[in-house]
Amino acid sequence: MCLRKMQLHGDFPIRHGFKAIGVRQGQHSGWHTGPCEGTRFPNLSISTEGTRWGLAQARKFLVQIQDVLAKLATNPDIIWHPSIYNRRTGRFDLDLAHPEHVKYGDEGGLDARGRPSYASLHRKRKAEAEARERELVKAVDEYERVLATWSPDKYPVTGAAKKVETVHMATPRHNSRGETWVGILCKRFARFTRTPLLKTDDPAKVTCKRCRTMLGLPPAS
Ligand SMILES: [Zn+2]
Repeated sequence: MCLRKMQLHGDFPIRHGFKAIGVRQGQHSGWHTGPCEGTRFPNLSISTEGTRWGLAQARKFLVQIQDVLAKLATNPDIIWHPSIYNRRTGRFDLDLAHPEHVKYGDEGGLDARGRPSYASLHRKRKAEAEARERELVKAVDEYERVLATWSPDKYPVTGAAKKVETVHMATPRHNSRGETWVGILCKRFARFTRTPLLKTDDPAKVTCKRCRTMLGLPPAS
């Protein structure tokens, strides 16, 4: 439903990446982009349920980000966190315990912590929000386009999910010690395998190529 090409696991997309953009503790700006919620829904080849949900979500987030932009236009205080050296990782982390409210007109700090000016912070927050807004507008368009023209055959399942399970022809087997078991036609000695072999007594249900050939049947369609 998130319309990215993804591997499929059965009829459901596998969970794929998520990221957090501009998310800071104790702050209302920023947003999470996943993990892709589309994994809860059947693939688009089956229904538009996920796409309709995705459209509703994108519209909701779009309203939120437009609120953020409207608020930014009023030059509100912007919360900034200094960086702090983390001895354990050897990296600088945001010092979340010491948020600072940077006010409109602030020229920035001249101390070692290097607090940026209000103007540059504002520019950065605005650019992030606008990029997110563009992303969401694009997503809404794409969802609407897909929904307007959807039909199941337009989104055939490709790759793993399309793979037909191999069903072999069941065949009685025995060995010289008098043991008997149900084997499969195409492999004389297939008895214990790591994954259980699917087999059937009904030749019409056989999909294994070799079994079908041995039964004199054409390849399964
Ligand atoms: Zn077979």
